[in-house]
Amino acid sequence: MLEVKQLKKYFNTPKGILHAVDDVNFSIEKGKTLGIVGESGCGKSTTGRAILRLLEATDGEVIFEGKNILDYSKKEIRDLRRDMQIIFQDPFASLNPRKTVSEIIGEPLRLHKIIKDKGEREKRVLELMETVGLSERLVNTYPHELDGGRRQRIGIARALALNPKFILCDEPVSALDVSIQAQILNLLKTLQKDLGLTYIFITHDLSVVNYFSDEIAVMYLGKVVEKAPSAELFDNP
Ligand code: ADP
Ligand code: ADP
Repeated sequence: MLEVKQLKKYFNTPKGILHAVDDVNFSIEKGKTLGIVGESGCGKSTTGRAILRLLEATDGEVIFEGKNILDYSKKEIRDLRRDMQIIFQDPFASLNPRKTVSEIIGEPLRLHKIIKDKGEREKRVLELMETVGLSERLVNTYPHELDGGRRQRIGIARALALNPKFILCDEPVSALDVSIQAQILNLLKTLQKDLGLTYIFITHDLSVVNYFSDEIAVMYLGKVVEKAPSAELFDNP
């Protein structure tokens, strides 16, 4: 369902041109997870964000359901948000502190004019909260009143609001207590199975990537240096 071909992203820096993503190639089948692993700064996030058109790639192709989405216009990118979403590492940083849980989760529905009626939107928000295991009574709280695990559940509910097919999980448990990490990973796994989601799962944590991925791409200095089914990579070190 997703094929990345010769993806490049260069940054102009005071020290010269940085090849942050340098000729990256991979593909992912529907309903599967590709783990992207590698040390900090190797280009994982930039790869993910270029694929989602959250930043502009320097070159390459990203074929999503048969179309090169790197050619998409602004309007087409807006529509692409319905199919492709992101879950961030730090839900606190990505959630607006002045908005309630209900407003945050309902925002994509409002912005994309999927559900215009406020009451109807609130109903859908409650459904989404149930899907991610958030108690209904938290609907009017603010993200800073909640712990990291619940905040990440808000981020996940928000990402699910538009019924996407593909989700980029960018270090989704790295900021969480170890005890909460497993809960969130299990939730993401269950959602994948129930909703048929396709994931890219970015992490620097090898045990997390092994648990989560069907296939793993190892990045180093902007390049994919190894690509293998998860079992193979870990059985033959
Ligand atoms: P990772 O996600 O693997 O930690 P990133 O994709 O965030 O790595 O970063 C890859 C490289 O690109 C790093 O060297 C980083 O400093 C650099 N980089 C990322 N974003 C920018 C930017 N906006 N401007 C300049 N350099 C950047
Ligand atoms: P603001 O409301 O000031 O734009 P937010 O905290 O709501 O700030 O979000 C920061 C940015 O991240 C916004 O551009 C928002 O649309 C985006 N964002 C937040 N969550 C998601 C998500 N799950 N998928 C895609 N974009 C998101």
